[in-house]
Amino acid sequence: MSLKISIIGGGVAGLCVARELVDRGADITLYERGDGVGKHACSWWAGGMLAPYCEGETAEDIVVQLGLKAADWWQKSVKKGIKSGQKGAEKAQKVQKNGTLVVSLARDHADLERFTRRTRCFTRVGADEIGRLEPDLKDRFSKGLFFESEAHLSPREVMTTLRELLVFEGVKFIRDEVEPELIAKDGLTIDCRGLAAKDSLADLRGVKGEMLMLSCLDVSISRPIRLLHPRIPIYIVPRGDGIYMLGATMIESSGGKYATARSVLELLSAAYALNPAFGEAEILEIGVDSRPAYPDNIPRLTRDGNIISINGLYRHGFLLAPAMAQMVAAHIFENKSLEMKHEYSA
Ligand SMILES: Cc1cc2nc3c(=O)[nH]c(=O)nc-3n(C[C@H](O)[C@H](O)[C@H](O)COP(=O)(O)OP(=O)(O)OC[C@H]3O[C@@H](n4cnc5c(N)ncnc54)[C@H](O)[C@@H]3O)c2cc1C
Repeated sequence: MSLKISIIGGGVAGLCVARELVDRGADITLYERGDGVGKHACSWWAGGMLAPYCEGETAEDIVVQLGLKAADWWQKSVKKGIKSGQKGAEKAQKVQKNGTLVVSLARDHADLERFTRRTRCFTRVGADEIGRLEPDLKDRFSKGLFFESEAHLSPREVMTTLRELLVFEGVKFIRDEVEPELIAKDGLTIDCRGLAAKDSLADLRGVKGEMLMLSCLDVSISRPIRLLHPRIPIYIVPRGDGIYMLGATMIESSGGKYATARSVLELLSAAYALNPAFGEAEILEIGVDSRPAYPDNIPRLTRDGNIISINGLYRHGFLLAPAMAQMVAAHIFENKSLEMKHEYSA
């Protein structure tokens, strides 16, 4: 008889855990208070960058290591949807391995040098190479770094595909707001509530992120671009068909449901600096949410009786959830410890 496990929360953490546990034959019920995949989850607002080396600029080495195989994990997981004939899977297949391009304006070259010192696995690129990689940035930047092995995906598409696939494979999705302590009376429960778990995880905090979705047919960019800046570094992630995700602020606060005028102005100014044609972009969406984070910005797996918690994914939900989900599965089925280890790189 298969092991019955409940998961609370259908953001990226909950869905990745469900994937790994179903693969090991578990009988899963997933409780999500919101309607399907949507704005209720922090994961909805993510850029979808799978950029372990770039993140190494500020993140610990464990984050880089655990994120190295995330792109392969996502590609494999979404491909299953294509085999099963799921609608939408073909589109979501686009886990794009086009690399990341990091640039700075001439006045901010010191920031580029600092980024160079703190990261690895890149090639230095000059104006010609930047123009070859991204013709619409030609002659705008004289120096940059190219992280060829990095990838990106569209969070909304891959999460929708993953959820549909899990339904197809027998996962029971129940729309309800539930308490882990009550659910855990009936058996093993994985708490993936993100920031909503703040009450039970004392040092969890929110780091506010503001982002915009733009439509701009006049600019064609094929990979995530990071524009360094001493105060507000930004990135732009192509979603295809002239749609771009422009992000993201990092503000030490979980308060505020709305983006501030200042943040929106700064994000848009940076996009304009990247290419002035973004001045004509249409703003499709302004989004805000708070990333769940522990004080060291490293996620944690903890266990209290029947409740296993995955939280603190900070700005690395899509990058780290696959490895975290594998660790949880290995803990449950192979009795391995929940200690974060480099060996789990999805
Ligand atoms: C602007 C922005 C950009 C980002 N960009 C990136 C990026 O490029 N790459 C990357 O890897 N990460 C990125 N992130 C970070 C990423 O989005 C988060 O790390 C991730 O979403 C956290 O996922 P989670 O599943 O823990 O939480 P969530 O996505 O918030 O999911 C928690 C779910 O639990 C549900 N829930 C809560 N309480 C209950 C309850 N009692 N009962 C039932 N359901 C409940 C909620 O409705 C929610 O759906 C970004 C974040 C932001 C805000």
